[in-house]
Amino acid sequence: MNLEDFELIYKDDRVDIKDKKKVKTRLIEILGEENVSDNEIDIFAYSRDTTLINTNWTLKGVLTSKPDFITWPETREQIVGVLKLANEEKIPVIPFSEGSGVVGGALAIRGGIILDMKKFNKILEINDKDLTVTTEAGVNGMNLERYLNAKGYTGGHIPQSLYTSSVGGWIAHKAAGQFSTKYGKIEDIVMGMELILPKGDIINFKPIARASTGPQLDKFFIGNEGTLGIVTKATLKIWPYPEKRGLISYAFPTIEDSLEATRHILRQQIFPAVMRIYDADETERHFGHIENAKGKVMVVFVCEGIEKLVDLEEEITRETCEKYRGVDCGEEPVEHWFETRFKVTDTSSTPTFKLVFDTIEVGFLWEGAADMYHSVIESTKKVKGIILITAHVSHFYPNGVGFYFTFAGIPTEGKSDFEYYKEVWNTIVKAVEDVGGSFGHHHGVGINRSKWMPVEWGKSFETLKVIKKLLDPNNILNPGKVYEDAWEKGGDK
Ligand SMILES: Cc1cc2nc3c(=O)[nH]c(=O)nc-3n(C[C@H](O)[C@H](O)[C@H](O)COP(=O)(O)OP(=O)(O)OC[C@H]3O[C@@H](n4cnc5c(N)ncnc54)[C@H](O)[C@@H]3O)c2cc1C
Repeated sequence: MNLEDFELIYKDDRVDIKDKKKVKTRLIEILGEENVSDNEIDIFAYSRDTTLINTNWTLKGVLTSKPDFITWPETREQIVGVLKLANEEKIPVIPFSEGSGVVGGALAIRGGIILDMKKFNKILEINDKDLTVTTEAGVNGMNLERYLNAKGYTGGHIPQSLYTSSVGGWIAHKAAGQFSTKYGKIEDIVMGMELILPKGDIINFKPIARASTGPQLDKFFIGNEGTLGIVTKATLKIWPYPEKRGLISYAFPTIEDSLEATRHILRQQIFPAVMRIYDADETERHFGHIENAKGKVMVVFVCEGIEKLVDLEEEITRETCEKYRGVDCGEEPVEHWFETRFKVTDTSSTPTFKLVFDTIEVGFLWEGAADMYHSVIESTKKVKGIILITAHVSHFYPNGVGFYFTFAGIPTEGKSDFEYYKEVWNTIVKAVEDVGGSFGHHHGVGINRSKWMPVEWGKSFETLKVIKKLLDPNNILNPGKVYEDAWEKGGDK
């Protein structure tokens, strides 16, 4: 079977490259022969990211997207060369790091040139006094964390995709790690960075602790999802490796009790590195073997840092949990979480059972957070064919929380997997928007959420679009995402 024989999900609005041979020759001149490919096997490998619906399509022999060229730049000058060529020829350029994104951000839905950043893989410098690490953007998350650990530090950013994601991908999607309650989200961790803009200008934001030197333009580029610039280098905060870890778990009668306990822990300015609430269904799924948690809502905590402070944090965390009807479940549930926290084999096998399955993370202020949870669960249960809708809460701030919903269903008669997928996604996002929440906490917008951007951003979305047009007049950098609704035009059988 050749690539041409595959049905394409995103086939409309593809950019037709008139003289492919000429473009390939120019790419080879810029990058060298070893860094350019239009081999079918490479194009196939880069036709998808880790959005779960892609697996449903792969099993049906359908391609999600089809880039024309795959490139592996080694220098900033090569990236500048590719961007200049792309602007001349009006060809899309799609930054791609590890492809672990789950919202279609790295898909070449209009065709074009994939710019794989993996050769930007050097960790450049640790500054012990400033507590920073400077690294190229293509560095793999686990490699960075192992390197830091060996030298007595932690990067504090441990997403579940640590083994399969990169620094550039984290910055592009405004990622959050499992230890975010203490160390923050990636936008709190980035101190400075280097970017290449769509027309090929290289800009730098030097690392600063804080400044009063005009608007915070560096933050504007965090979360740009490869549509406004390509991140080549970043300086990130680091921390001394924790002296002690305290493992705590409590089971609560209701989700409301668990939210009240965690909110009051933060109110006392206690920031356990990890806090995770599992609703009753997820408690059954992950902690069914814990007697004290039967029929309850499990919360696991990891307090870490210097011993004296950890002891105090543990004491206050325990007191607060008990005040809000928590029952001590010991260290075992947290040890179980540590052992299984990177394991996702169950979820990725669901499409083989013809299920449509995905996860959606959303953000809420504390006010009404429990009502929002119930509202999402109830609305989703009404979608025909739903067999599972559950949630955990994995990111906590003094002012709000990040919820993470998981759904699975079987498309009803006459509906394709994609139609059903969109129906459930839209039901959940609408339920969140209706009560004032934010439709994405850390996976980004990509394709899956772009439909909702005007609702989430209101009039300021127009300003964002003006800036995109200004920086990228030919719309070459990652087109079809964030600003446009590509879902409308995609389709499966
Ligand atoms: C099992 C699993 C668990 C996950 N857990 C988490 C989690 O705990 N927390 C979390 O935040 N996310 C999580 N994710 C989502 C995903 O890992 C993140 O979005 C990650 O940040 C993507 O990084 P990547 O290097 O794989 O980027 P890619 O998927 O390659 O790209 C993602 C987006 O970033 C752009 N991009 C990539 N590199 C650059 C660059 N250098 N400059 C500019 N743009 C760029 C791409 O164009 C695309 O839009 C998970 C995903 C999976 C599959």
